[in-house]
Amino acid sequence: MHPFSYTKAADIDGALDGGRRGGRYIAGGTTLVDLMRENVERPGELIDIGALPLHDITGTAGGGLRIGALVSMAAAAAHPKVRAAFPVVAQALELSASPQLRNMATIGGNIMQRTRCTYFRDVTAACNKRRPGSGCAALDGFNRSHAILGASDQCAATHPSDVAVAFAALEAGVHLLGPDGERSLPFADFLLPPGSTPHQEQALRPGELITAVEIPAHPQPLKSGYLKVRDRQSYEFALTSAAVALHVRGGVIRAAKIAAGGVGTVPWKLPAVERHLIGERPSESLWAAAAERAADGARPLRHNGFKTELLKRTVARQLRIVGGTK
Ligand code: SF4
Repeated sequence: MHPFSYTKAADIDGALDGGRRGGRYIAGGTTLVDLMRENVERPGELIDIGALPLHDITGTAGGGLRIGALVSMAAAAAHPKVRAAFPVVAQALELSASPQLRNMATIGGNIMQRTRCTYFRDVTAACNKRRPGSGCAALDGFNRSHAILGASDQCAATHPSDVAVAFAALEAGVHLLGPDGERSLPFADFLLPPGSTPHQEQALRPGELITAVEIPAHPQPLKSGYLKVRDRQSYEFALTSAAVALHVRGGVIRAAKIAAGGVGTVPWKLPAVERHLIGERPSESLWAAAAERAADGARPLRHNGFKTELLKRTVARQLRIVGGTK
């Protein structure tokens, strides 16, 4: 492993000082330490932010939730307010990783985690994300797990987080703090598609850290859930997934918030599916017709064409589970 220095930040100011110096923030370390062991990441300084006061989940006006960046995945999944108001978040967390990892990994770290593309983790392979300008071994290699949506000619890696898909569906916001102060970004603007700069994965400025993810209040209660399709039932990343939240009143769908995972270079919001549902009555034919729109714009690679149909079926199945039928 490459030599590095380690500093434990006692407070926010100490952390930001480290960020200003170019240090890398670390909390649970479940992604970063792995990548350092494999020489994929070689930071010169680690700033441990585990002691910062970012461990709370609080309600916001109208029924939203603010989840501190250092809340563990396990704590967030078990929290009564998360389970009651946004079960899609709890389910996405519980379907991620292993119980041991969920105890260590944080919400902030989860949405910052890096791709599971095997070429990214193989330092002998060409990878524009790991080494800009070196090429992409996946595009002509084995790309069964890669993206069918949002890829560029530089990179087709999927974003691995499950809970990020739930956050995208619910139109969460990301609160940031850096040397220039606080700001917030819509979740859709926080994670960046690869374009010509696949190594730039988040819209973070130098030295910024995530302080919280905020799920906005919704005027009507949402019924929600998360479905993950994968090669084995535990400790595996999604081939496809669907985060679905609906409000049905008087037999009519009044609100629909839907995103897909395992198929996009970022969590993939599905506005065409949402639009197809609003104002309609739940039915088997509606779920199937709406889900047909889930793969709009898909551009499969050589080995992942199956994801197009699998995505539609995943979305249709989760619409049925959340919305029921009459
Ligand atoms: Fe690297 Fe992206 Fe290509 Fe994977 S898909 S090898 S992460 S550039």
